[in-house]
Amino acid sequence: MKIGLHKLKYTIWRYFILFALGLMCIVWFIQIVFTEQYFLNDMKSQMITSGEAIELKYNLMVSAPENVTAAEDFAQTATSIKEIDNIYVIVSTRDYNGTVGEELPKFCYPVESTVLEHYYNEFGDVIRQVKEYTVNEKNGYTYSGTITSNENKTDKLYVYSKIISEDKISNDSVYIILISSLGNVTKMLSIIQQQLGVITIVIIVVAFFVSWVISSNLSKPLVNMNKTAKKLANGNFGVQFTASGYSEISELTDTLNYMKEEVKKTSVLQRELLANVTHDLKTPLTMVKAYAEMIQDISGENKAKRDKHAQVIIDEADRLTMLVNDILNLSKVQSSVDGLEIQRVNLSLLTGKVIDHFGSFLENNGYLINATIEENLYCECDVKKIEQVIYNLIGNAINYTGENKTVEVFLTKNKCSILFEVIDSGKGIDAEKIETIWEKYYRASETHKRPVKGTGLGLSIVKAVLEAHNLKYGVVSKKDVGSNFFVEFPLVEGDQE
Ligand code: ADP
Repeated sequence: MKIGLHKLKYTIWRYFILFALGLMCIVWFIQIVFTEQYFLNDMKSQMITSGEAIELKYNLMVSAPENVTAAEDFAQTATSIKEIDNIYVIVSTRDYNGTVGEELPKFCYPVESTVLEHYYNEFGDVIRQVKEYTVNEKNGYTYSGTITSNENKTDKLYVYSKIISEDKISNDSVYIILISSLGNVTKMLSIIQQQLGVITIVIIVVAFFVSWVISSNLSKPLVNMNKTAKKLANGNFGVQFTASGYSEISELTDTLNYMKEEVKKTSVLQRELLANVTHDLKTPLTMVKAYAEMIQDISGENKAKRDKHAQVIIDEADRLTMLVNDILNLSKVQSSVDGLEIQRVNLSLLTGKVIDHFGSFLENNGYLINATIEENLYCECDVKKIEQVIYNLIGNAINYTGENKTVEVFLTKNKCSILFEVIDSGKGIDAEKIETIWEKYYRASETHKRPVKGTGLGLSIVKAVLEAHNLKYGVVSKKDVGSNFFVEFPLVEGDQE
């Protein structure tokens, strides 16, 4: 169960739902903390704007009492504020208390005593409180909060109050008082919250299902790949990783298919190796055993014969040593345990030295190496490993060259590189095999009598060494004409040795 929950599908699903929940929490937080404040700020600016409009119209009206239009204008402004913004507009004096039958102030709004009395009846306490506050504290202030109005009715109100003129004789002041109920705001907030509640539930449910579908789709290719990889692990190389969905998976699919091909090739090559190595080990061992028995039974007393037989045993032992050494060399180069020891090397001398190695062999077997070597060409490399490369390439050329038994070796200077070439006149290499010959243990299937002994590892050692040096190398080969193996070394200019 625990493992199941750690599946990619469930993990993506969980994160998706957590993400949706997180988003909803942020929305709720904003709603609870900021929305009410936003409405109140909006109301405050609306109250102030309305208060200033009323004040302006009042001043115009009192400055020209004979101007009927100004009075109408004032009344119209006050009416529209009530009708459009639902804000009560009260203009009265400090002394007026709104009791029935009380004498109305010189100017008041609403002008009808019944309406004004009704407003006082409704908001009398509030009006008295704000009048008091306006005198004592601050002129032109706004206040919001729960205000207990008449008849013990508590209502959330928003109030604006300002003294707009002072009657010096009666010492009485004219007030503008704007009152708006916050009931609508509270109601609107509660509606928004209800809607948000429904939206939250819908979003969570949708996120639940959508994320399940998405996470299933995302993990599906991986699940399929895992199944295919298990088949591959069981040795079924016929499987194919199929790409689907997003580009990372396609890339992974390509990589896995490539890996599968490589594993398949290695597996085939290793099977061939087993056959080759066992054959190569068996032949000398059989020879060693046979000649040792011959010495024991036949040639023991005959020195000349015994020496000849012992020489065969020594040769075969050498062959075994060579095989084992090649296998060790290759694995060392490949595992890089044996790091490169880079130094400045006279490649001309090195090539000449390797050719000299073959000297007595060439004489005894009628082979010829035509060497064209430019003098004093220097490069930086691991001398021992490059010597092995040159040796393997020339050895192969001797092995596979044609009837004329001739091999050409060139070492020439190009602009900023040295080109090493070994050319033979043998059967050449089939185009489709040209890539394969660099693989470990690869050997052309046809049997070929080779004057220089090989292990099937020569070119893979060449490849590993040259790649470790980052050098350009390759082969150009034509069927029944011959092959040209080449390596390009970077030229190092310098003093002559
Ligand atoms: P080996 O020569 O011991 O078989 P190598 O790794 O040196 O192993 O070479 C691998 C194969 O590449 C050889 O078996 C041969 O088929 C092919 N090959 C190498 N060099 C040449 C060449 N000069 N001409 C033709 N074929 C070659």
